[in-house]
This record gives sequence, C-alpha cells and structure tokens, in this order.
Amino acid sequence: MAHQEIPLSRPSITRMEEELVLRAMRSGRLSMGAMTEEFERLVAAEAGCRHGVAVSSGTCGLHLVLRGLGIGPGDEVITTPFSFVASANSILYVGAKPVFVDICPKSLNMDPSRVEAAIGPRTRAILAVEAFGNPMHMDAYASIAASREIPLIEDSCEALGTSFKGRRCGGFGRAGVFGFYANKQITTGEGGMIVTDDERLADACRSMRNQGRPASQGGHGTGSWLQHERLGYNYRLTEIAAAMGVAQMRRLPDLIEERRRVANAYVERLMAVPELVLPTVVEQASMSWFVFVVRLAAGFTRDERDRIIRGMRNHDVGSADYFPCIHLQAFYRERFGHKEGDFPIAESVAERTLALPFFVDLTQREIDLVCQTLEVMISRERLVRS
Ligand SMILES: *Cc1c(COP(=O)(O)O)cnc(C)c1O
Repeated sequence: MAHQEIPLSRPSITRMEEELVLRAMRSGRLSMGAMTEEFERLVAAEAGCRHGVAVSSGTCGLHLVLRGLGIGPGDEVITTPFSFVASANSILYVGAKPVFVDICPKSLNMDPSRVEAAIGPRTRAILAVEAFGNPMHMDAYASIAASREIPLIEDSCEALGTSFKGRRCGGFGRAGVFGFYANKQITTGEGGMIVTDDERLADACRSMRNQGRPASQGGHGTGSWLQHERLGYNYRLTEIAAAMGVAQMRRLPDLIEERRRVANAYVERLMAVPELVLPTVVEQASMSWFVFVVRLAAGFTRDERDRIIRGMRNHDVGSADYFPCIHLQAFYRERFGHKEGDFPIAESVAERTLALPFFVDLTQREIDLVCQTLEVMISRERLVRS
C-alpha cells in the first residue's frame, strides 16, 4: 500500500531494540540461544505461565498446540467466526473441523451459551479468541472446558498484557498463543509464543518447532542434532527477532499505557457521535488494546461502511474492515458449505466495523484529524441516503 499520512499501524522501535539486535548479531549465535530463552521467560511470566515456547509466528504456535494436544482428522474444535483467519486455519492444518459459534454483540467474542450448546461427541477443544484484545467470557469458556473435560486453547494473539478478573490472558486454558506481527502490542517483525503450565505439551511443542528433535536439545552441537523423534517443522525464531522481543517486553507496560492513552482519546472524541458504537470494556478487565475498532450503528450497510473506509484512505487516513467473517471466506464456503445467515450476529457486526489508525506515537492532533475525517465521511453517507 502507498505511503499514508496517518497509517493504520506503525511499530514503536527504540534504541533498546537496536542495541539488543546488534548484540544478538554479534554474539555468533543466530538461532536458539540466550535471547530466545530470555524472551520465552518474559512472555511466560507476563501470562502467568510456567513455560514459553518461541515460534516463528502466532499461526505456527496455534498449529503446534493443536498437534501437541493430539487433535486430528475426525475431530471438531469450537471457535469463533469473527477473528483473523489464522484462528480457524490452524484447525484445518491438523485435519480437524472448525465448528463456529455466533458471538456476543457486546464483547465480540463467542457467546458462552452457544459454546456449551455446540459441544458434541467429536469436540476435542475450544479455541477462543480475545477479539481486539477484549477478554470477556474467558473465565466462562475455561469453566465449560473444565466441566466437559476438553482443553481450552486461547488464541491470545490480540491480547498480550490484558487481564480479566485478575487472571492474565494466555493463561486461562491449557495453552495460550501470542503473535508478534508488526501491528501487535509488541512486535518481532514476525514471531509468536506458546505459553502453558503443561510441561509435556511445552516439550512436544519445543520438539515440533525444531524438526522433531528431542525437546531437551535446545541448541546445536550435542551430537543428536540429526535425531528426529517425531514429525516436526522449522518454526524456530531467530535470535535477532528474539532480541527485538526482549526489548519490546521490557517496554510492555509503557506500550500498553500509550495504547490506552490513544484509545481513551478516541473514546472521548467519538463518544457523542450517534452513528457509532464504540468498543465496550467491562469493569473487571484490564485492557491491553490491540486495535481501535468502531462499529457503525444498526441500519448502516456494508456498502456504506466500505465507502467510508475508502473515503478515509483517499484522505490519507488508514482504515480497514476488521474482520470479515471467517466462515464467509471463499475457501470456507466451498469446503464447508457456509453461507450468509449462518452466524447472523457475527455477520451483522462484521459488515459495520472499521478499524482506525492505532499505534503508540499517534498524537492528539492526528487523533483529531482521524475523527474529523470519519465524521465527514459519515455525514456524506447521511446526505447520500436522504
Ligand atoms: C495476529 C493473529 C494471529 C497470528 O498471526 P501471525 O501473523 O501468524 O503471527 C492469530 N490469531 C489472531 C486472532 C491474530 O490476530
């Protein structure tokens, strides 16, 4: 995409990232070294979990957790249609079937009563997502999973640093997964992390990320480098990326605080716009904002929303349709016969949401400009209508 005056997202990189990356490059060890171990410790601690397993993306992390739990062909995994496509794709990678359930219009996460109702004899896991970082219902999914004796997997790729009722995201289920793509709360360019208290699962994931080598074999040169005890992959993270992650983790509290400042400024500025539904955050949540997504009021159409997004972009302001429903992606329609109307709440929300520019260096002046542009685009739609 061409240069935008106010982009949708922009990473925050300081001298500390540069210095640690240099140190990693000069260390002579470019994979599976001290930086990776330190990064794993920091992220696991943030999620309140015993083990962290660094991988090359959030998507890889989800794949390994599903395989590590033995989920495969013939199995079903309950998940949300309102997420980034990787949540459901990871279920397809292991040959299992994603069973979607509709969302709660307030949290935009799966409606817990529908999760309960969707559990059948083939259900092997619940894969939950904190949409846009919102942790609501995670405790409910955890207790449903516990009572049905199936694992809860948390796709926490949008929720690093969020907590709910005093519990940290990533730590609600058997395993959680974070992603570190450039628009996330912290970034390593590309990267991900599995967190869990389950040592066997952590070991299985460590082995699978490293071509199926024994989990105990962290690095090179011990003589068993060419022993492969299971089918594995190369999902390792580089030391260079891990170094960036260590610096970003040290800054996490500041990054979260800055994101909160921007979110609050948007809320303040847009609260009184009657055409908009703003994100709701429940009281028991401590929010680590991933993106700032507003919803046009009921009655707005997808075409109107799309015109508003295009109008914003024409005015050099980033905007995007986070997220189109997964079940309506061409691939899912074809494979599972999904169609419009299957998950009406998710669909109705998905056609009216739009993401606004959101990153830590966003200034008050830029926030004002974004909001002004949005308001102009909305009133233009009102004029077209009448
Ligand atoms: C970002 C994200 C992922 C993983 O993304 P990667 O690009 O593979 O790191 C997975 N699920 C959700 C919900 C995400 O937002």
